[in-house]
Amino acid sequence: MTKTVYLDNSATTRCFPEVVELMDRILLEEYGNPSSMHHKGVEAEKRIREAGQILADILHCKRSNLYFTSCGTESDNLAIIGAARAAARTGHHLITTKIEHPAVLETMKYLEGEGFEVTYLPVDAEGKVSPADVEEAVREDTILVSVMHTNNEIGTVEPIEEIGAAIKRKNPATLFHVDAVQGFGKARILPGKMHIDLLSASGHKIHAPKGMGLLYVRDGVRLRSILFGGGQQGGLRSGTENTAGIAGMALAAKMLYDHLEEDREMLYGLKEQFLRELEGTEGIHVNGPAGREGAPHVISLSFDGVRSEVLLHALEEKGIYVSAGSACSSNRPHVSGTLTEIGVPKEHLDSTIRFSTSVMNTPEDMTAAADALKELLPFLRKYTRH
Ligand code: PLP
Repeated sequence: MTKTVYLDNSATTRCFPEVVELMDRILLEEYGNPSSMHHKGVEAEKRIREAGQILADILHCKRSNLYFTSCGTESDNLAIIGAARAAARTGHHLITTKIEHPAVLETMKYLEGEGFEVTYLPVDAEGKVSPADVEEAVREDTILVSVMHTNNEIGTVEPIEEIGAAIKRKNPATLFHVDAVQGFGKARILPGKMHIDLLSASGHKIHAPKGMGLLYVRDGVRLRSILFGGGQQGGLRSGTENTAGIAGMALAAKMLYDHLEEDREMLYGLKEQFLRELEGTEGIHVNGPAGREGAPHVISLSFDGVRSEVLLHALEEKGIYVSAGSACSSNRPHVSGTLTEIGVPKEHLDSTIRFSTSVMNTPEDMTAAADALKELLPFLRKYTRH
């Protein structure tokens, strides 16, 4: 049987076995509704409290700053729509970047339809947003700025702390939202130190299950709810809490943050090894920041003369799983916004593959992927019509 080499960890990750074990116990034995007054409810509520404390310790915040949602997308929606509606009487302007995930960009478009004005900032050739551009764009009526921590397609890590400082310098009332879905678990993110008011994260990118999101809300930030119902989580996010998912996400985050520095080193090692093994192979272009400037787990490569879809399936036949451009939309043909924005030539837009690693990958995985590319590229190029 072909060994599976899973290099699509920015799309989603395999759960840690410890997370599955814990969730299994909660789902089968501690299945009470955390709002119930009997023992089973109290037991579930305790799990949520403990998970909240673990995550609060990681983010250096209070448990009361954290809200559990159904995914990163919901966290982004709640942060942006919730903040815009809460502040609609004082301002109508929002700022974001041209390379955000659709969970942010589509939300902004929705708000434009509601009468809000949105400024979309450009990025440089490596996908970086300039703090000076942000400062210039912030106005008296700017409600919120949303900038991602780590780009999902090319791994750019944005200068979050500098951007946060720039926003607050210009208008202390403007809120700063950070989509940290790709950065949480891979980098130390401290909302207090980085001037972040709202921060989104997602469970399935950190070896916890799909269907789990987290939203940090700084003390004093006003959000309008976008879900109405039983009033759970202080009324901001109604709906029975996903006890097992919440506990699973907290455990996964703890497992990652307990070894953050070693894991980052290991992932950078895999990235460097992969690129080294591909050195000398013609017609390969690296997109995004070079070296350790970028995220440790995302490698975006464009290949001369090969369509990404063809290469993706050829790699799949060898048991190697990758993604064409952004995973969230790769099942729909589209032109990547991020690649276009950083100026990737037109002929490469459809020839780009994202390799994304996790702590579950090994040096052998990277060698297998590099060897497969070296074998496939000349063959596929021969049969690609130009
Ligand atoms: N934001 C970024 C940067 C992402 O990469 C993703 C998913 O790929 C999301 C938001 C959406 O997260 P979820 O899949 O949990 O809704």
